[in-house]
Amino acid sequence: EAVVDRYEKREVLGEGTYGVVFKAIDRKTGQTVAIKKIRLGKQKEGVNFTALREIKLLKELKDPNIIELIDAYPNKGNLHLVFEFMETDLEAVIRDRNIFLSPADIKSYIQMTLKGLAFCHRKWVLHRDMKPNNLLIGPNGQLKLADFGLARLFGSPDRRFTHQVFARWYRAPELLFGAKQYGPGVDVWAAACIFAELLLRRPFLQGNSDIDQLGKIFAAFGTPKSLQWPDMVYLPDYVEYQHVPGQPLRTLFPMASDDCLDLLSKMFTYDPKSRISAQQALEHRYFTSIPPPTEPASLPRPP
Ligand code: ADP
Repeated sequence: EAVVDRYEKREVLGEGTYGVVFKAIDRKTGQTVAIKKIRLGKQKEGVNFTALREIKLLKELKDPNIIELIDAYPNKGNLHLVFEFMETDLEAVIRDRNIFLSPADIKSYIQMTLKGLAFCHRKWVLHRDMKPNNLLIGPNGQLKLADFGLARLFGSPDRRFTHQVFARWYRAPELLFGAKQYGPGVDVWAAACIFAELLLRRPFLQGNSDIDQLGKIFAAFGTPKSLQWPDMVYLPDYVEYQHVPGQPLRTLFPMASDDCLDLLSKMFTYDPKSRISAQQALEHRYFTSIPPPTEPASLPRPP
């Protein structure tokens, strides 16, 4: 049986960064799946071997907090990526005014996010495009990270399609300063922004340009001092900013516990070399202090 006949196409789920996403049924397993059709654009000759090898690696990234890449196949100059189907995403949870998120619920969502991140970072895979609508939620309340590794494979989203405006709000300062070499810290910064968004129920640092994004970061945490981040001055787009003081995290997040703020501040560390890792974050006392994280199945979700 040809691979294109294996999936029975259903409705379009949405237009994503890389192309259209539709629902389908896997005739082989009966499972509902989401198929991402990726326009290959200029690469007319098809998917190159490097991409195919990387896709093979992504297929092997299996973890309870990562969306499984079930299959990948080329068809009519498009690449089709087949993922497990998910009911909703964290953005829908955060935006739903009828949903109350308790401190235990927030702890559970951020713990699942960090578990997915720590798993991929152990395998040397970065996400690079973490945002609440990339954190999908399954029928049993499990949170799973979507689009792992795609940003590197198919180009940074914000340079491709302009509708992708939100990614900036989750961008780490080293990226905004033009760092070409960066590491897992970019995902930890993004996770910190998502953590803050769960607490505030609105995006925390909403810049309307890359420069403004840095401005928003500095207004919150103060301009970084070179002692805090010695390598900053060597970054390609580094410019000296007029000094602004930061605000105490306590005033930004009045309802958060001390443990919560301590972890948040370690994730929001300027120097990526000093920033806490996803694994270290999971070992932080925030996750063992009361209240314990809510069981995924008991988490509030949109109807
Ligand atoms: P973006 O690139 O903007 O993050 P995506 O390409 O990930 O968007 O997804 C586009 C649409 O498809 C979204 O509305 C998203 O909810 C839906 N979608 C993506 N992946 C899945 C999935 N695994 N299960 C169900 N819906 C999905």
